Amino acid sequence: MKAARAKTPRRPKKPTNPTLKDPVGVYCRVRPLSRADQECCIEVINETTVQIHPPEGYRVFRNGEYRETQYSFKEVFGTLGVQKELFDVVAKPLVEDLIRGKNGLLFTYGVTGSGKTHTMTGSPGDGGLLPRCLDMIFNSIGPFQAKRFVFKLDDKNGVDVQSEVDALLERQRRDALPVPKTPSGKRHLDPEFADMINVQEHCKVEEVDEDNVYSVFVSYIEIYNNYIYDLLEEAPFEPIKPKPPQSKMLREDQNHNMYVTGCTEVEVKSTEEAFEVFWRGQKKRRIANTQLNRESSRSHSVFIIKLAQAPLDADGDNVLQEKEQITLSQLSLVDLAGSERTNRTKAEGNRLREAGNINQSLMTLRTCIEVLRENQLYGTNKMVPYRDSKLTHLFKNYFDGEGKVRMIVCVNPKAEDYEESLQVMRFAEMTQEVEVARPVDRPLCGLTPGRRFRNQAFREELARKLEMRGGPLGGETEEQSVAEMLLQSFPPLPSCELLDINDDQTLPKLIEALEQRQKMRQMLSEEFAKNVLAFKTMLQEFDSSVVSKEHYIQGKLSEKEKIIAGQRTELERLEKKIKTLEYKIDILEKTATIYEEDKRNLQQELESKSQKLQRQASDKRRLEARLQGMVAETTMKWEKECERRVAAKQLEMQNKLWVKDEKLKQLKAIVTEPKEKPERPSRERDREKAVQRSLSPPPVPSSSPFAQGGHSQRLASPPQGPRRSNSCSSISVASCVLEWEQKTPSHKQSTSYARTKQEPEPSRGCNSSHRRRGMCWTGVLEVPRHREELEIEEDHCCRNAPPVRLRHRRSRSAGERWVDHKPPSNVPTETVLQPHVPHAITVATASEKALAKCDKYMLTHQELASDGEIETKLIKGDVFKTRGGGQAVQFTDIETLKQESPTGRKRRSSPSQPDPLGEAADSEWTDVETRCSVAVEMRAGSALGPGYQHHAQPKRRKP
Ligand code: ADP
Ligand code: MG
Repeated sequence: MKAARAKTPRRPKKPTNPTLKDPVGVYCRVRPLSRADQECCIEVINETTVQIHPPEGYRVFRNGEYRETQYSFKEVFGTLGVQKELFDVVAKPLVEDLIRGKNGLLFTYGVTGSGKTHTMTGSPGDGGLLPRCLDMIFNSIGPFQAKRFVFKLDDKNGVDVQSEVDALLERQRRDALPVPKTPSGKRHLDPEFADMINVQEHCKVEEVDEDNVYSVFVSYIEIYNNYIYDLLEEAPFEPIKPKPPQSKMLREDQNHNMYVTGCTEVEVKSTEEAFEVFWRGQKKRRIANTQLNRESSRSHSVFIIKLAQAPLDADGDNVLQEKEQITLSQLSLVDLAGSERTNRTKAEGNRLREAGNINQSLMTLRTCIEVLRENQLYGTNKMVPYRDSKLTHLFKNYFDGEGKVRMIVCVNPKAEDYEESLQVMRFAEMTQEVEVARPVDRPLCGLTPGRRFRNQAFREELARKLEMRGGPLGGETEEQSVAEMLLQSFPPLPSCELLDINDDQTLPKLIEALEQRQKMRQMLSEEFAKNVLAFKTMLQEFDSSVVSKEHYIQGKLSEKEKIIAGQRTELERLEKKIKTLEYKIDILEKTATIYEEDKRNLQQELESKSQKLQRQASDKRRLEARLQGMVAETTMKWEKECERRVAAKQLEMQNKLWVKDEKLKQLKAIVTEPKEKPERPSRERDREKAVQRSLSPPPVPSSSPFAQGGHSQRLASPPQGPRRSNSCSSISVASCVLEWEQKTPSHKQSTSYARTKQEPEPSRGCNSSHRRRGMCWTGVLEVPRHREELEIEEDHCCRNAPPVRLRHRRSRSAGERWVDHKPPSNVPTETVLQPHVPHAITVATASEKALAKCDKYMLTHQELASDGEIETKLIKGDVFKTRGGGQAVQFTDIETLKQESPTGRKRRSSPSQPDPLGEAADSEWTDVETRCSVAVEMRAGSALGPGYQHHAQPKRRKP
């Protein structure tokens, strides 16, 4: 039959829990002094602290320097401490972990003679941690051990399971080999260590999984001079020239655990067997040390206990060969070499070198611990130099991966060891700060508990039966006594030897005895039958109970199945819910990203806008600054200009004042002197003329047609005027007054005339078309309030000048024919004074026919003035005949007719300006001089219609 082997699957690195870490557990054991008279330098203060004080000699040697140092540990075991105590605290948890599938490392550290080996291995009659560990393991898994060779370790630190049949075949094969067997039993052990495993206390792990099968494998190696030797390797015995042992290599397995390649691993089934294997290795070690002249205290010994476990099938009969279900855990028990410095051993030559190397591996251990501590304390990531020595390399994964690491620091309190002990303490204290990842708890097997249930049922039944029979002990003794009684009552057989031929006693005695025995036998068989019957009934009872139990269990099972089905549907529902929720989450996440995108965009936009705004604001500020500069500049310029103008005005006004003075003087002369002289003296007239000349600009020819307008066209010429010449002025005043009298029906009307203050505008006056008549008006136009005043004035003014009608002077334009072009879009102004041209051809659109008949053209144009009033413009021109026989108009003049509301005018006039028709004026009328001056200056303004004032402000423009 072919072996059906299940290989250990390649597993990924065991999941470590980086958040759960445990510090390396460091314990201290202080051994008793070997002699009572020895000086002691270490004192146990309490359960966790020891105090080291320098011995006398040391104090003298160190020149009086004295320092006591205390060191704390997880627990300190004093000189009175027993192995059991130490085992319970330090090693027991490691064994428990081993059975739960977790790895552990326990090592003893200290100088030679400090009790490392005593602690680890123990002394005769006082077993150390190693035998105690083995004992506890076998006590725990004893009944659940797999048959030999069911588990097979491979050469890659893995384990396989083979079928029962294969295991059996292998057992037979091995048994057939002539190699000495390794049967269990104390008789094979060296008497020196036989007592070591005689551990009285039956320590065991309580919760061992009964549905697993277990197998223990042990290996024992030694590291000497940085070489690894297999202490269990079977080498042919060569008494004459023994071969030196071959060193072994280290490799890393798939779980990153280091292992010794080709190392012998022996499957052991009991504590004795295991310890026998250990002892074999120990012996070999001693022989090698002697043969190779090695210092035994300079080697590290490593005893590795591997525990393989795999679950049974549902019936609890066969080991499951599912690879994933096999668990292999190991506990390494390390007895380190003495940590003392080389010079202490006084070694020389080769041994010194070797010792140096050994020391080197301990140094590497110290360095590794230091680096680990530093990395963990300061979060650095320094490389830990595990590979620098075989010792550290072998246990790399305990520090890097996971596992429980414990160290027992052994110290001898004697004064000679003081300095070395100090070093040991320091190293131990540092080690305590290193943390190792806690192994993750994982179920070792999760299969149907077959064997467990069966065992439980059996135990229950047995207990019940025993109870029924009145307790376990009573029943047993009763049965035993009946059997013994029966056996004792068996009659002994008489001697069967016939002494002589006539011996007739022997045979009948024998027959009788045999008959008795026959009877007894019958009785016994009857008893046996009875017992068998009873047992059968008991069995039946048991069967029925089992059946009923089965029914009960099935009922429970179906119940549970129902519950499971319900939970499954619930699970499905929840899964669906989870899916929908995930979908929703997905959508929400997407929406969130969209919103975030939007937010980002908007923020960007906002930023750009704010930047723009800032730019604009800065632009504005710059502009403002520039404008302010400009304003200041302009203000200054205008102030200067104003000053200049004011000065000019002042000069002009002074001139005017002088002229007025002159005029007044002349008038005074006129008023005071004419009575004696009807004719004004030529000197006077000359002066007047001179005054007039000074006031009037030179006459400019004009072609205004309005001069012919007569009284009906009074609007045409407000500046008809007083200053043509002295005589003319009188005439014009008189005629104006006359015309005014004719036109105004009542005196009252004149009072409501618009009062106008004509700003003296010499230049405008000079350009006026009215200059044709040699007139120019300046000064203030005062409209008299009373007719009487006017008459008086007229009398005064015109006494010497005969009134001449203006109309006669317009004969020049009588022959002109006008085209009066009035566009139909014009708005009727309904003013009293309307432009009227006699004999004009009025047209609505420009007509060539009309133009051919006329030599003057006038266009009435309306537009809205800035004050909201209609402004009528009369655009005038001359008509020419063109060479081509057509007509051309050359525009020569524009007259502007404007309406003004008196209230508006009043409002606009400055309050600081004195009202010309106010009280002051009234009083002024009494003054002759003033009245005369008004009379002289009065013009066609007097002919204005009430409530109106028509400014004829002809401006010559180039059409
Ligand atoms: P190490 O292995 O550290 O070199 P050992 O364990 O070989 O030291 O101990 C040296 C001697 O001291 C041994 O004979 C041992 O029996 C004894 N010894 C050590 N520790 C104790 C102890 N705690 N109680 C009694 N004897 C001890
Ligand atoms: Mg030792």
